[in-house]
Amino acid sequence: MSDATPETTAQAPDGGNGIPGPRLRRLKIIVFFHYDDEAFSNREGSVARRHFAEFRWKIEQQIQARGVEGDELTRIMSGLIAIEPFYCIEAWTYQHTEIAKKICARGCGKHLDAFDAWARDRSMFDEVTKPWDPAALDGCLRKAHNVELTGPGFPAEAVWGTEKSFYETVDRMLTCPALLDALQRTYAAPAAQAASKHP
Ligand SMILES: [Zn+2]
Repeated sequence: MSDATPETTAQAPDGGNGIPGPRLRRLKIIVFFHYDDEAFSNREGSVARRHFAEFRWKIEQQIQARGVEGDELTRIMSGLIAIEPFYCIEAWTYQHTEIAKKICARGCGKHLDAFDAWARDRSMFDEVTKPWDPAALDGCLRKAHNVELTGPGFPAEAVWGTEKSFYETVDRMLTCPALLDALQRTYAAPAAQAASKHP
């Protein structure tokens, strides 16, 4: 990563419209942009994905117009992160099958075997169209339990291991240095934790 460029060496004016290039270089902006509309196997046909690519390209053009290029442009653009679950966010939240089974048991109790089967092949979730619709799972979970479904014990590593939409989204996050720095600040290294317990 290159050093920050002093404001006095601005290479391009901002045209009085938006954040000037030198300020952009100092900012660590992270924007998560969520869209969905297809099963993973048909992701190339996603209209939302195409629209996002156009949106992203226009933003990149605006930043370039402020004299930001190369590694700095790549770094700034890495902060615009597509959250792209297929078919929808429930393709991820329903992956917490242990909680899903508890919710099902509290309600209809008819889908315990189905969630067990999905847990054995987690890649299936990305191929279910509208999993929240009554046509799928009889509307067992719908969209009513997503907060509970993303609670403790979420099988993130297993979902990542399916190498589908969750895997690809995590991959995009890993290209963003600002996000990795921010996440690193949310936990202490084991040595630091030990030191804090035994000052
Ligand atoms: Zn059920």
